[in-house]
Amino acid sequence: MSKRRALVAGNWKMNGTLASIRPLLAAISGGLAEEAAVEVVLCPPFVYIPEVSDFAGPGRVGLGAQDVSERVGGAYTGEVSAKMLKDCGCRYVIVGHSERRALYGEQDGLVAEKFRAAQAGSLTPILCLGESAAEREAGHTEAVIARQLDAVIEQAEVAAFEHAVIAYEPVWAIGTGKTATPDEAEAAHAFIRRRLARHDRRIAAELRILYGGSVKADNARQLFNRADIDGGLIGGASLSAEDFLAICRAAG
Ligand code: PEP
Repeated sequence: MSKRRALVAGNWKMNGTLASIRPLLAAISGGLAEEAAVEVVLCPPFVYIPEVSDFAGPGRVGLGAQDVSERVGGAYTGEVSAKMLKDCGCRYVIVGHSERRALYGEQDGLVAEKFRAAQAGSLTPILCLGESAAEREAGHTEAVIARQLDAVIEQAEVAAFEHAVIAYEPVWAIGTGKTATPDEAEAAHAFIRRRLARHDRRIAAELRILYGGSVKADNARQLFNRADIDGGLIGGASLSAEDFLAICRAAG
């Protein structure tokens, strides 16, 4: 593991009820006491942010959201601003998750606007990048990642990555049980770091790049051991305290 502090973020997506998340939170929070080497963040659905906030704090879980409006505020029914998320204790927000891109039509330009809005509201964006199965098969993995990354660099400028996290999430690996091999993941992470280094070597070297896509307790360590993989963005396995804690230990 590099000198960058490992980060494991759980993305609960649209899952859970008060009855299910209360014991989950208690178990995760109780099990984290000894994992100080790893930063752990949970990204619940908006409505459960206050529940997670009760467990958040220094040396405990950090709080993140799954999406943010690109707008500052006003007549935008259904939207949630960065300022509101900050107000409720969030430090992080996921932007450009492939489900937002594919199911809700979020294009690179909008993702870049959300990235900027997050930072303007003093949140750290976790910017998701990744190619589909068809794009990988066609040999376009690097071109797709480069396009997604460059769109944000163009709007936000590279200095913004001093206060950001990237998650490389190949779409074909999300929720499918198919994980990128450590070699495939490392190649993509190293590519992202090189691409940023063309603008600023220090920022590229310090940036945390997480891997996401069917990370489980039994494959996490092999992935996290690679030079450019600084932790994970975890979907399904973050809904089980036992699995999520095992993944956090693998990053430590
Ligand atoms: C995700 O949704 O970001 C994700 C990585 O999901 P999963 O771990 O379930 O593949």
